[in-house]
Amino acid sequence: MRKLFIISAPSGAGKTTLCREVMKRFKDITYSISYTTRMPRNGERDGIDYYFITKEEFKRKIENNKWAEWAEVYGNFYGTSAEFLDTCLASGKRILLDIDVQGTMQIKKLYPDSITIFIMPPSLEALKTRLKSRGTDTRQVVERRLEAAKKEMEKKDLYRHVIINDQLSRAVSELIKIIESYC
Ligand code: ADP
Ligand code: 5GP
Repeated sequence: MRKLFIISAPSGAGKTTLCREVMKRFKDITYSISYTTRMPRNGERDGIDYYFITKEEFKRKIENNKWAEWAEVYGNFYGTSAEFLDTCLASGKRILLDIDVQGTMQIKKLYPDSITIFIMPPSLEALKTRLKSRGTDTRQVVERRLEAAKKEMEKKDLYRHVIINDQLSRAVSELIKIIESYC
């Protein structure tokens, strides 16, 4: 059985929403909570959505080789704990990682048989609407994320599966089917 599922998408494409549905459906899959130096959004909780840490702490962990992968995304640092990943895999658990393209390439080097899934928005226009309607980012941050989205979407062919998140229920079924096919 394959153990590592990696989901990437441009910000606002619906990755968090889709990952929540996967976690409800597959009780045995553990979600890897990333570390980040960005500020929590409204409603985000430390230790549940992310571990929120300072840039100093993050850099110390780089020096001490504490990351399985890390990247700078939209001006903030994000990382996956190597210890967490090793412990889960050693105990045979399946893991879901929600990380960016740079992080995915690092994990694929460490674990080549990871299953990679890229989530696409139906269009850039729809992405803009979702980012705005989420209401968690300033206009400047939304613009920056849209610019980055174009570059990220060019990398979708590096992934084994691509899902277009047009209608949410359809995209959820497709994602569940993909995961089931590796059980
Ligand atoms: P991400 O984690 O990729 O940044 P989110 O899951 O936070 O994206 O989704 C961004 C916004 O778009 C949220 O407000 C979410 O409710 C909404 N959304 C997600 N999927 C869809 C969809 N298929 N159709 C319409 N809105 C969606
Ligand atoms: P957000 O700030 O919208 O939660 O996430 C921004 C981007 O950072 C998303 O593309 C998300 O997948 C990515 N990300 C979240 N956690 C990690 C991580 O641990 N490592 C890497 N490389 N990217 C991450």
